[in-house]
Formats: sequence, C-alpha cells, structure tokens
Amino acid sequence: MTHPENPLAGADAETLLVHGGQTRSPHGETAEALYLTSGYVYDSAELAEARFKGEQPGYVYSRYGNPTVSMFENRMAAMEGAQGARATASGMAAVNAAILGLVKAGDHVVASRALFGSCLFIIETLLPRFGVETTLVEGGDLEEWRAAVRENTKLFFLETPSNPTLRLIDLKAVADIAHDAGALLVVDNVFATPLLQKPMQHGADIVVYSATKHIDGQGRCLGGVILGPTEVLDGQLKDFLRHTGPSLSPFNAWVLLKGLETLPLRVERQCANAAAAAELLAGDAGVSRVLYPGRADHPDADLVKQQMSGGGTMVAVDFKGGKRAAFAFLNALRLIRISNNLGDSKSLATHPATTTHQRLTPDLRADLGIGDGLVRISLGIESGRDLAADIAQALAAARG
Ligand SMILES: *Cc1c(COP(=O)(O)O)cnc(C)c1O
Repeated sequence: MTHPENPLAGADAETLLVHGGQTRSPHGETAEALYLTSGYVYDSAELAEARFKGEQPGYVYSRYGNPTVSMFENRMAAMEGAQGARATASGMAAVNAAILGLVKAGDHVVASRALFGSCLFIIETLLPRFGVETTLVEGGDLEEWRAAVRENTKLFFLETPSNPTLRLIDLKAVADIAHDAGALLVVDNVFATPLLQKPMQHGADIVVYSATKHIDGQGRCLGGVILGPTEVLDGQLKDFLRHTGPSLSPFNAWVLLKGLETLPLRVERQCANAAAAAELLAGDAGVSRVLYPGRADHPDADLVKQQMSGGGTMVAVDFKGGKRAAFAFLNALRLIRISNNLGDSKSLATHPATTTHQRLTPDLRADLGIGDGLVRISLGIESGRDLAADIAQALAAARG
C-alpha cells in the first residue's frame, strides 16, 4: 500500500525499519548520513534568534538534537507506533530519564521486583534518596499491584519477560490498574524486542529500550530510547533530557539505524535458534527445567499468546547438579561464549547467580527463581546445527 504523500503509510515493520525516519541531504545519499557535529551555524543573528525562540525549525546543539539522532528516533517511533521517541546514550539513561524526569519528591512509584539490576538500583536506592516512595511487587500477582497503590502513586514500572527467568507480566491488566490510579505505566521492553511485543497496544504509556541489545545486536555500541506520547516527551521530559545531557552520540545513532534495518532478520533467526535450543535442553536428563516463553510448558504460556507474537531470543535452563553442573556446561561451550550481554548475533551464556545477580541475597535470589543451577542463554544468528552440536557436547560435560 503506498500513499502519494507518505510512501510508508501502512507499511509493515520490515519496511519501516529500512526506510522509516530517513531524511536525505541535497547530495541524495542512499544510506543515512552521519552528521558528526556538536553544533550548528546560522546565516544571520536573526536566524539564530528565531531558532532559539523555536520560531524557526532547526537544530541548535547536539545535546538537544542532531539530524542522525532524529532519523533513529523517527524510525523507532514509526516502528513502535508511538507519537515520538527520544534517544539516549544507554538503556539506563533512558530508564533513568523516563522515571526521574516524571516524578518529584512526595510521589510514589510501584515496580515489579524482577528487574534488570541497574533498574532495581534506581527504584530501590536512588528514588528514596530524593524523597520518592517506592514499592516493589511480585509482577505476576495483580493483587499486589492493586494493593500497592497509594493516593500519591504516579508511575508503574515493569519488565516483561523478566531477566533472567523469563516470566511474564500481564500488560493490559497492570495498565488498567495504573490508569485507575491516575498513574503512567512505563515498560522496559528489551527482552521481548520491539518486534515481538507492542506494550502500547496493551495500554502502556511509555516504552523504553536498551538499544545496546537487539537493536544494535552486533555488540558495537550502547544506546537507549524512550517512546511515548508527544505530551510527555515535549512536556515533563523535554527539559530533563535537554539539561541533564543523556544524549546519544550521532555516530552511535548511525550504527543503531543500520542495526534496525536487519532487526527482523536477526530476531527471526534468533527465535528459531532459541526454540531449538530450549527443546534440546529440555530433553536432557541433567536439566530440571527449561524456561522459554515459546514453549507450551512455560508457566505463563497463556499470557505469551495474549501479548507476544513469538517466544523471544532468550532461554533459561536449570541444572539439577547446581553450580557445579552449570559451570561445567558453561566451561565446555565452544561456540557459545560466556558473557552477560544479550540480544547479540553471537550466542552468549551467563550464570546469573554469580554475575548479574550476585549482589542479591541468596533469599532474594531464591524468591526470584535464580538458583545456583540456572544458566541464561541469549541465542545468536549462527547455524542451528552448529549451536545444537555445541549445546549437546556441553550438556554431556555437565552430566560428567
Ligand atoms: C541491558 C538492559 C538495560 C540497560 O541498558 P544499557 O544499554 O546497558 O544501559 C535495561 N533493562 C534491561 C532489561 C536490559 O537488558
């Protein structure tokens, strides 16, 4: 379907990710131009005045905006179906701005407990330091979300599927509770990728990504993005972002734009590799459970059907032999490398209890289902046959 004024009207994600947001310079370059500039010049003092007053559109300083960064933001917004996007230097800069930019002392924030470690730091440690009250809830328990609401509740924050156990939270149900309370729902959608879950279609107000993960997807640079309504982006968030400086570098924006072009191809292959790896792991005698949202035996399988269009790129596996077996498995892997990163073209595996989640108490880890035998695998785009061979020989080593 094409439209004379906007050839991308009604286009599918695969098309938007290749063409969306691109503006061409007078040279008519094929690829997105890299505007590696911090500042801008004006032909007259009057023009500079008009730009600063916002009477004439255009850039004034790359902390506020940059043409390459704008292309990345507009491509992300087009794909997510959001009114707008603001790019940041990392995923954490996006999470930090989406939370700190929207609350003030005396407000209350409710968040799910199973969060990425740095997000948990913001909620648990940083916000209380500035007089913002916070409550952590078991994300899958809707009663806990309801019970946590106070009259000063301004924001709900959650991550689904969660890291590293890949449990789901009902987006629609939690969005309804947030809105009844007059609060905004912010969703960290990293694990699902922008392709497999559309939180805004289930009621989320704001979606954040670490673009470092699947969006770059090739282990090159950090980046983040906040997507939401113009009212919020140009309202409360505008001055916060302009004056605290979490800006994405134009170079990284350019890398991420190229990453977006191949995102559907990579995610499709990664999901196929993840489903196959989950099947192989589930059939092993040394494995006590496999958590993969694409499997019928996943504890939240109904919710997966309701809000995700695929099982994702991550698999969690629990070894009966605990830490010894988990380490033996990791150390035996040859193709899959040990790394805490995820969403990469290269398959990566990690032992959360001793790395990303080692700072938690053993009790809290147990609450979150992060046992000593748990290994998280992020599947890459290698050949499924080679990955299967690597996993099979590592499983044999783990049993031995
Ligand atoms: C990686 C990650 C972040 C933080 O992103 P950075 O780009 O590393 O700052 C936040 N949330 C989730 C779920 C992540 O996986």
